[in-house]
Amino acid sequence: MAIATINPATGETVDTFEAHDSAEVERRVAQAVEAAQTLHGTTYAQRAEWMHATADILEADVDRAAEMITLEMGKPIAQSRAEVLKCAKNMRFYADNAESFLAAEELSNPSAVSASAAGTVWQPLGVVLAVMPWNYPLWQVIRFAAPALMAGNTGLLKHASNVPQSALYLDELFEKGGFPAGSFRTLLIGSREVAAVIEDRRVKAVTLTGSEPAGRSVASTAGQSIKKAVLELGGSDPFIVMPSADLEQAATVAVKARISNNGQSCIAGKRFIVHTDIYDEFTRLFVAKMNALKVGDPMDEATDVGPLATESGRDELAELVDDAVVKGAEVLAGGSAPDRPGFYYTPTVLAGLTDDMRIVLEEAFGPVASLYRVSDREEAARVANQTTFGLSSAVWSNDASEQDWFVANLDAGAVFLNGMTVSYPELPFGGIKDSGYGRELAAAGIREFCNLKTVWKA
Ligand code: NAP
Repeated sequence: MAIATINPATGETVDTFEAHDSAEVERRVAQAVEAAQTLHGTTYAQRAEWMHATADILEADVDRAAEMITLEMGKPIAQSRAEVLKCAKNMRFYADNAESFLAAEELSNPSAVSASAAGTVWQPLGVVLAVMPWNYPLWQVIRFAAPALMAGNTGLLKHASNVPQSALYLDELFEKGGFPAGSFRTLLIGSREVAAVIEDRRVKAVTLTGSEPAGRSVASTAGQSIKKAVLELGGSDPFIVMPSADLEQAATVAVKARISNNGQSCIAGKRFIVHTDIYDEFTRLFVAKMNALKVGDPMDEATDVGPLATESGRDELAELVDDAVVKGAEVLAGGSAPDRPGFYYTPTVLAGLTDDMRIVLEEAFGPVASLYRVSDREEAARVANQTTFGLSSAVWSNDASEQDWFVANLDAGAVFLNGMTVSYPELPFGGIKDSGYGRELAAAGIREFCNLKTVWKA
């Protein structure tokens, strides 16, 4: 795939970039290796100072960075600004908490292991490669980079080919904040060049956020090289609505959960599983709210839904909808691409889905919602769990025992009760099944790329 910025709102190529050749890749890997040795000798306090300085730079640059994001991948400008500020928040979170998350622990009864003292320390692994997607061009990277650098690791970034300006922006960011040169380096390479970087003996681990096929490929290379991998892959999250829920609020949040980021979020509510007693009322509210959305130029503050990031992404989404419609799905809203330049797709609601339709099992990466009518909580959980994904889930119910039951019975990395799934620096984030393995954010996220070293003293 060409490394280029193509404005999804117009379809026009804004800029193209030369891929790094093998000499440049080698130079950047060597820089990251050298910086890892330097960072290993620095204190948490020093790294925290640099991380706060980097967050200051990002906050001061919020408008320019947000415009770059919207230009490259089309999310509404207010959401781009929120993304930039969330990155800064995450940087400060790890600046303030890394040392306590990675504190050494002493065994209280060392005699049990025949020692005078024993315990554990956390140490950085060294250079970690991050393979990242375009849907949150800064956030996906920062949620890896902030904990990695605070732990004393260095990062190499292979970003998605359609967000090169964001990739180059990140290449300079940490150095501007004071981190040693080479602490975070972007590699402008295609996906075919990724395996060689993983196999490089100087690279210690890899994290990938992206699609299932990319995850399988990266994980198998990491497995062959016996290297730690974290995979954050796709999702087709259920959004379950039960009779005790506040329907007006549930429908409002359901729309937000589906169309945020123009529907291109791994943790978006994608399948709306509604109890039969309230199905008609919820559907009426939901469809009305989906139809009321303003689709348009993502640089316009009033826009709710902008274009999809790529033409191929828009076409794949259209194929998924067309497949369902041909097989008998009912279209309650939208159902096609509007007749305008750019990669737009009208917010869509489908009902009457049957198991032979691809959308029942596959991820709809765009503003397309599927509605399912269920008769009880057991059927709701069965429908929720029937995909191969297991990223997150949302349940709307005001019955405490029903909430507990869903927490126990949904196959997912998270359950959000009476809300929509959102990532927070304070909460672990990650999936099960084909949504991947490992966790980002919180204490778990910073520990993924550290060596838990046992220390025993006679
Ligand atoms: P993608 O095609 O898998 O691309 C993601 C990254 O992987 C890009 O940098 C891409 O490079 C690279 N890549 C693709 N194939 C590769 C391969 N065989 N070997 C090595 N690298 C490879 O994903 P996408 O379609 O752009 O992104 C959307 C997907 O990401 C969705 O499935 C979404 O659910 C998932 N996602 C998951 C999370 C999460 O946290 N779980 C968060 C956001 C998105 P190129 O651009 O050069 O192809």
